[in-house]
Amino acid sequence: MTSTTEADREPEADDPVPTELGRDGTALLIRWSDGRQQRLETETLQRQCPCATCRERYRDAEPASADSSHAGGKRIEATLPILPLASTAAPLRVERMEPVGNYAYAIRYDRGCNKGIYTFRYLRELGGFTSR
Ligand SMILES: [Zn+2]
Repeated sequence: MTSTTEADREPEADDPVPTELGRDGTALLIRWSDGRQQRLETETLQRQCPCATCRERYRDAEPASADSSHAGGKRIEATLPILPLASTAAPLRVERMEPVGNYAYAIRYDRGCNKGIYTFRYLRELGGFTSR
């Protein structure tokens, strides 16, 4: 059996689903069908964006690969569009959340990456529960 993380599992019928979404300052609030309430800071949420680009951008603590065979040992820097400094002037906001099927949300921020599909299971793995 291959080991998969919880987030990779297929959704199950009895998985909790969000019943209410809200904002609290810069944080996103999610109430779940099992009665728990979650509070996620928007900045944190975007940093945990599950899309490939963000995983690379934010999780490159792990060395990409020891592949130096091409480029003659020259280090190639991946260039990504960097947001202007103005992006730090105001707190990041969630503009809207679009349901994807019945298992995930596409979260649109007012800036930065808007490609992440956050499965319900993944959202719950991010923690930040304020009640049981
Ligand atoms: Zn992303």
